Amino acid sequence: MVSTTQRDGETWYECEECGLLFDLEEDAKAHEQNCDDDDDGPSYIQ
Ligand SMILES: [Zn+2]
Repeated sequence: MVSTTQRDGETWYECEECGLLFDLEEDAKAHEQNCDDDDDGPSYIQ
């Protein structure tokens, strides 16, 4: 999930999986997809 947080009067987008902050919602959502993949374990073939 991506949550919004207020810092210094600006809205930031936080990845709830790892706590990373992004200033762009689309960046946070793009990261979240990769972050979820990491939590589920590697899906790529080694
Ligand atoms: Zn993350």
